[in-house]
Amino acid sequence: MEYITLATGSSYFRSPDAATDAAIAALQTGKTFYGPAEGTEALRQAVAARYKKEGITMLPEQVLITPGSKQALFNLFTVLLREGDEVVIPTPAWFGFDDLLKYSKGKGVALQTHLSEGYAITPDALRRTLNEHSRILILTNPGNPTGRVYRKAELEALLEVVNEFPDLYVISDEIYDFVTYGQPVASIFSCQRAPKERTFVVNGFSKSFAMSGWRLGYLAGPPELVKQCTDFQSATLAGVSVFLQDAALATLEQRDEALPPMLHVLQEHRELMRQELNTIPQVRYYLPDGAYYFFPNFNSYIGRTTPEGETISTSVDLFRYLREQYELEIAPGDNFGAPGHARMSFAVEKPVLQEALRRLHEALEKLR
Ligand code: PMP
Repeated sequence: MEYITLATGSSYFRSPDAATDAAIAALQTGKTFYGPAEGTEALRQAVAARYKKEGITMLPEQVLITPGSKQALFNLFTVLLREGDEVVIPTPAWFGFDDLLKYSKGKGVALQTHLSEGYAITPDALRRTLNEHSRILILTNPGNPTGRVYRKAELEALLEVVNEFPDLYVISDEIYDFVTYGQPVASIFSCQRAPKERTFVVNGFSKSFAMSGWRLGYLAGPPELVKQCTDFQSATLAGVSVFLQDAALATLEQRDEALPPMLHVLQEHRELMRQELNTIPQVRYYLPDGAYYFFPNFNSYIGRTTPEGETISTSVDLFRYLREQYELEIAPGDNFGAPGHARMSFAVEKPVLQEALRRLHEALEKLR
């Protein structure tokens, strides 16, 4: 077997047939023209209906369909952030937030969470990080790269602190929400303390439905600000292609067929990776409740020397060693604000996963 990567952020599954069939049908019926900037009424209604099923009231006017969740985030950063504003990001975090902030007016502030504490964000730590410049708190639930799912009671406790800061907006990135291995994710919208005028959800189809290349996402929040995001999107990208939105609609409607087989495989792969990691000495990790990554702490291997005589000083060195000597790619923790760690996806084919873990085991064993 050749080069293997566990570093990608998308799964190996095929996109649901429902999506492909609907997109083809839409193209064949000529849905190839501009659509509404905010998204089709049918898809916005389906998104609202999805939340209604979870007991959440949402109107289609509160939903904006975006070309990927990244764009949903960028729309929000553009509309909400003013010069000097701070965006609080519980860390380890997806590097995409900081990448986007480079093109926005605000700057990121890390709120460090720790493996030893199960990546909990405590209300006290949050309160200490917030100040009069804090404009946005980003929650990622389930977390990427940690796989941590925040329960409703934890969210309510954090929202109590949020409510002490009347200018603070909350963006809950719930893009992995259908990928869980225990309790389902409670959307921030299900929380009583979530301030209606200042809370947004960002979501999309890339992760839960293996549709990363389709570029389909959405945001939901207070109608006035959603309208401002729509105006920005209208001026820049305009609406998502209508045939793609038909595909998204079909996917949402038929999710009960698409999701269980994927989750079944992911559950099995998660167990496989867990067992293999347990056989590697001195590697600690959080067993993910959601998403499809482990984010182990390899600190015990940092400072060691490779058979070629090179010192592994950082997780980036470890990444290089694995890539050059074992043709294995993992995502260095430094990119997620957690040096010494690495993100490893288990959303790859089983033989690939098994071989990757064999290589990892052998590579770490050789370090002295
Ligand atoms: N949020 C998080 C937490 C992610 O991990 C990703 C993709 N890596 C995105 C947003 C962006 O997803 P997309 O633009 O494909 O919808």
